[in-house]
Amino acid sequence: MGDWFQRIVDVDATEEDAARLGADVERWLIERGVIVAEEDDCVLSADRGHRPGPRVEEVVEPTRSEDWKRLWTCGLAVRRGRAVFDCGQGEARSVTCPRCALRIRLLDERWEPLEDVWSPFSDAVGLWYRTGAADVTCPGCAAGVPLREWQWEDDCFALAHLGLEFWNWPRLTDAFVSEVARRLGGHRVLHMAGKL
Ligand SMILES: [Zn+2]
Repeated sequence: MGDWFQRIVDVDATEEDAARLGADVERWLIERGVIVAEEDDCVLSADRGHRPGPRVEEVVEPTRSEDWKRLWTCGLAVRRGRAVFDCGQGEARSVTCPRCALRIRLLDERWEPLEDVWSPFSDAVGLWYRTGAADVTCPGCAAGVPLREWQWEDDCFALAHLGLEFWNWPRLTDAFVSEVARRLGGHRVLHMAGKL
């Protein structure tokens, strides 16, 4: 059985904000009993994470069994710093230009990635990762659009500086996701899920 994750990604946090906001939200989750204060090797995307706390049931959808809490991998990783957050399996189906609304298909009819279409985006992702800035020229309106402004279908792809990654947790409630967004100063957040 594979491991699955959910993420709440803050798409507005700047590189400068991310460390402080991440620490704030982590402290708040500990005080609220959602996670425990201690950290250990309980996540797959970072060295250490926090296991669920005594009040975790308040933030996840009801489940029949609590076995997930006994898995080795059942923690929360607060990831700060430049990161490409994707869903691990499959690829985004399309991406839309925020200036002219041109929708660009990224997969062919067999659901294989269209390499030629992807390539300017992959190059830009590499550049953004190294430098923190990259544009992709839109084939529709010819504008150089910053990579982080392109809109990815299904919210399955994001370049961001802060992400909360929950490993093998039952589905987080919408109320909790909104609460986290408020805690992040009303930033826009994406709630994405994926499997390793
Ligand atoms: Zn455009």
